[in-house]
Amino acid sequence: MSGALDWIPGALEKLEAQGLRRGLEPLGSPQGPVVRLGGAALVNLCSNDYLGLAAHPRVRAAAAARSEAEGAGAGASRLVCGDLPVHRELEERLARLKGKEAALLFSSGYHANLGVPAALTGKDDAIFSDVLNHASIVDGCRLSFARTVRYRHKDLQELDDLLAASRARRKLVVTDAVFSMDGDAAPLAELTALCERHGAMLYVDEAHATGILGARGGGLCEALGLSGRVDVVMGTLGKALGSFGAVVAGSHDLREWLVSRARTFVFTTALPPGACAAALAALDLLAAEPERRERLGALTARMKAGLERLGFPMGEVVAPIFPVILGDERLALEASRRLRERGFLVRAIRPPTVPAGTSRLRVTLSADHAPEQVDGFLGALGDVLAGLPR
Ligand code: PMP
Repeated sequence: MSGALDWIPGALEKLEAQGLRRGLEPLGSPQGPVVRLGGAALVNLCSNDYLGLAAHPRVRAAAAARSEAEGAGAGASRLVCGDLPVHRELEERLARLKGKEAALLFSSGYHANLGVPAALTGKDDAIFSDVLNHASIVDGCRLSFARTVRYRHKDLQELDDLLAASRARRKLVVTDAVFSMDGDAAPLAELTALCERHGAMLYVDEAHATGILGARGGGLCEALGLSGRVDVVMGTLGKALGSFGAVVAGSHDLREWLVSRARTFVFTTALPPGACAAALAALDLLAAEPERRERLGALTARMKAGLERLGFPMGEVVAPIFPVILGDERLALEASRRLRERGFLVRAIRPPTVPAGTSRLRVTLSADHAPEQVDGFLGALGDVLAGLPR
């Protein structure tokens, strides 16, 4: 070996000193409200398995049966010879859930966000992106040849001014529906009207809204009656739907265009049958058991009220994502460590995932949590915060 990678140990030490080094730790159990980690049973307050479907017996059984029948992998990209009937079946179901004509599967939300903005724009175009959009959107904008302009979080006036001033051929506005680190919602009705007024395309990432918001769990567009007006809706299958993959829903024309032009669709292996079958089973449960969403709603209200009593404003939170902002990286890490000692798994989220100075605990809930677990966490958090050097 040449020694050309010798810079890495020093760089890692620097990350460590800044409280920014990350590490892996394998889970010792399936996903659930309580998980095993490092030999201990911990109340799990950091997964995105919002409806408790990742390890649901019917979801697991559906994945196993389809893998048994059709194989573990698709073996090729959709366009080569990996286009399976289960893909169509899932796309039709997801198009219906999203209230759209058509839908196209992607390998993950990350793939969708990397591929779609670039497919919809070229060098004469402009993308307008909320500063708090997910990292995959930031990267998707970078991969496009369009000029990217970031607007202040949910600042409609700034966006209006930027759209009015833009001379771009096509304009694309991109936003998270529910922001992943703050749990707040984009002002979608206003954004839709703004895009219509300026002739801009609107792309909405419903990673944290799919399965949670809306009368059928269709997402924020459904909740606000905007499904027919938002041009492109992305949803992930790896969060509330307990599986893996993502969907982009819109018109038939949009689907056709992405099949030919979205590079992260064209040049990657199709989703495995088991993952698709798991998502189909999750969609069945979403329709058959609306009480899951109701339970999650009640737990969310309980957590919000409790965190507010501890002095953390939660007024904007619309989904089971609660930002407990502590500011300093090391403080967030220490709070996470002490909570773990008390039996609660909550991760410290640090830059670059969140802006500098806003390091936090990101607390999430699943429909399978018990109210007593929420109360237990709130008690432990109160104690831990009282003991922190703040
Ligand atoms: N968009 C948002 C808003 C997300 O939070 C995430 C995942 N953290 C993604 C996209 C990526 O989705 P996936 O995990 O399916 O790649």
